[in-house]
Amino acid sequence: MTSSPASPPPPPLAEPYSAKRGSANLLNCDAEPVQTPGCIQSHGALLVLRRADLVVLQVSDNSAAQLGQRPEEILGRSVAAIVGAERAALLERVVARERLEKSPRHVFTLPDLPAADRRGPLDALVHAVDGVVVLELERTERSLERLDLYALVKATIGRLQAATSLRSFCQIAAEELRDLTGMDRVMVYRFHEDFSGEVFAEAQRADLAPYLGLRYPADDIPRPARAIFEKIWIRPVPDATAPLSELVPLVNPDTGRALDMTYCALRGTSVMYTEYLANMGVAASLTLAVHREGKLWGLVACHHGAPFPMPYQVRAACELLAQVVSLQLATVEQREHLEYRLQISETVRRLVDRAAREGGLSILVSGSPSLLDMVRCDGAAVFHQGQWSTVGRAPTDEELDALAVWLRGRATPERRLEVIAVDHLAREYPAGEALTATASGLLAAPLARDGRHFVVWFRGEARRTVSWGGDPREKQIVEGPRGPRLSPRRSFEIWNEQVKGASEPWAAIEIATAAELQASLMEVVVSRAERLAALNADLARSNAELDTFAHVASHDLKEPLRGINKYASRLAAQLAGSLDDEARARLDGMLRLTVRMDGLLDALLLFSRVGRVDVVQERMELDVILAEALEMVDARREETRAVIRVPRPLPVASCDPTRTREIFANLINNALKYNDKPERWVEIGWLDPEAGEPVTFYVRDNGIGIKARYFQTIFGMFKRLHGRDEFGGGSGAGLTIVKKLVEVHGGRIWVDSIPGEGSTFFFTLTPESQP
Ligand code: ADP
Repeated sequence: MTSSPASPPPPPLAEPYSAKRGSANLLNCDAEPVQTPGCIQSHGALLVLRRADLVVLQVSDNSAAQLGQRPEEILGRSVAAIVGAERAALLERVVARERLEKSPRHVFTLPDLPAADRRGPLDALVHAVDGVVVLELERTERSLERLDLYALVKATIGRLQAATSLRSFCQIAAEELRDLTGMDRVMVYRFHEDFSGEVFAEAQRADLAPYLGLRYPADDIPRPARAIFEKIWIRPVPDATAPLSELVPLVNPDTGRALDMTYCALRGTSVMYTEYLANMGVAASLTLAVHREGKLWGLVACHHGAPFPMPYQVRAACELLAQVVSLQLATVEQREHLEYRLQISETVRRLVDRAAREGGLSILVSGSPSLLDMVRCDGAAVFHQGQWSTVGRAPTDEELDALAVWLRGRATPERRLEVIAVDHLAREYPAGEALTATASGLLAAPLARDGRHFVVWFRGEARRTVSWGGDPREKQIVEGPRGPRLSPRRSFEIWNEQVKGASEPWAAIEIATAAELQASLMEVVVSRAERLAALNADLARSNAELDTFAHVASHDLKEPLRGINKYASRLAAQLAGSLDDEARARLDGMLRLTVRMDGLLDALLLFSRVGRVDVVQERMELDVILAEALEMVDARREETRAVIRVPRPLPVASCDPTRTREIFANLINNALKYNDKPERWVEIGWLDPEAGEPVTFYVRDNGIGIKARYFQTIFGMFKRLHGRDEFGGGSGAGLTIVKKLVEVHGGRIWVDSIPGEGSTFFFTLTPESQP
């Protein structure tokens, strides 16, 4: 029933524990060693046999009454001395051949033992644990022999299958189990997230008050008890009022270890539990485990006011039913939510489609359907690229920011992508007190491991009344034989609690759908990133092709151009005397155009070279590079008599020296050129970078300036803002080449300017960190 590995054998106890003597000081139910009580319920007898030779190592101290022999007559002898040679041989075969761990098996029925006080045959159940064989002997119930339990169970299964809702399914289970066992009250008890529980369905004797709908605190079924129900299907306590029988000796003499009684039908009850039952007026109880997909979902608790025999045949039938109920539970739940489930998955499909088509996550909160339509909620939000977008009723951006910090802090590294469902936010997140109206409940799905992308749904407060079966805060300490210990509460009077600050809980299917959406969106987001990378690769490829094209074209065009120039010059010389003025002017114009075109082709060639020659990155003193650049523009500098200012030395930087010199030379040349002031100046400098960011260099002038609307245009190929020959002329390729020179470094160039006052060109030589 569970895939958990067999639990390790309990360690030897400093002082052997016996539930009967209450050796532990139990101030916390979670500390009680319920697996190793050292005692059995006295309606049967128990023998612990050494696996190798089936010699009795321990026996319950009621052996005289149940088996007709005192412990000292039994201990150290072969089991044959009690059950006879033939049955001992059968037992030996079963032990040798079968896997007896975790599942007690009926081996034989012992006839009436005349020496025993109690009369009647005994059923023998056997299982193996921790190197020993455990033989449990219980009085059999002859009346059951004619009862067709198989037919009964089959009919019950048929009825269970017809149930359409979880509630009716559990109700049928309760009624059938009451019919099968004949006990006073059968409750299907369902665990909540915090392990408190609720009576979800109930069938009881008509004269008993119903417990249906009542809540019980988690302490009522403490952790060790729940842990046992993870492993076993059934727990019979036919007479909680009877005294317990201790094992003699208390620990295994071979190993010094206490017997692990997890799988014993006779396992001794905890004092807390029998008192609890007594306070409720219950003398016998039969508890079944209900599992949903491998996890303890709840229990079926059958109570009876008087001691109630539970022969193993009935227990086997009940166990089978518990397994059937467990197997069908998830199916019934799914069937019940079918419509909601269909609606949700259709919405998820449409949301993901839109996100993939339109890109970005903002569509999740705008248009239809939105996150609001996906699960029942009051509002939703998306956190993407540092921004919140919300729909419906949601906390403010500041509140959301704080919430995101909390959400991030809550996730451990392995659980960064876990969907978080909370239905009482303020309990876990104190600042949530202020958010009860919008966000008492929260369902959050992180979309990336870095915690920078989230989808969150919100539910406002849903005040409700919870009826507890007794005040859950009531805890009594009583004086036990070995000091103070907890005692279960005495009153089961209904105690109503007003629950504030909580929302409707998130259903399992809603949490599952959030995870489904999360997976799909992550795929969309990831595949977008992949598409972008592919586009970038394409772009790089076509840029490279363009470079090659420009190179080939300009190179190949230069040749015929030279020819045109040559023929035109010759023609001009030959026809010098015979041409009229107009024809002469046309020929001159043609010659000028070829020269100009040659200049353009040179620029194109240069431009293509920028991308085609590998970038060399070296640590360079930029002051040296600047000095060389200034040399290159010396002629124009003299001509304009401009002042060059360098307020502080340039830093050392990693760059391609030739290309960087080109950048400075070009920008300084333009700064000198596009200037009509009587006293011209050019300033070259750099800005202190922020941590981790690259240095920004600048070239500033007090020239004619550039209108803002041309800030981009000027970087385009052959783009000039002036007449061809104004400001010393030019091809309009200079800044395009500079931009490319900057970009092959991974840097960026931009301009700022006030027309009439001057311009500043800024650039970087290394990539900036991503925003
Ligand atoms: P060119 O100088 O060959 O025309 P550029 O690409 O270097 O080509 O410059 C493009 C245009 O940008 C220039 O024609 C000019 O109008 C404008 N420009 C460039 N630098 C400056 C500057 N420092 N001040 C004002 N305008 C400028």
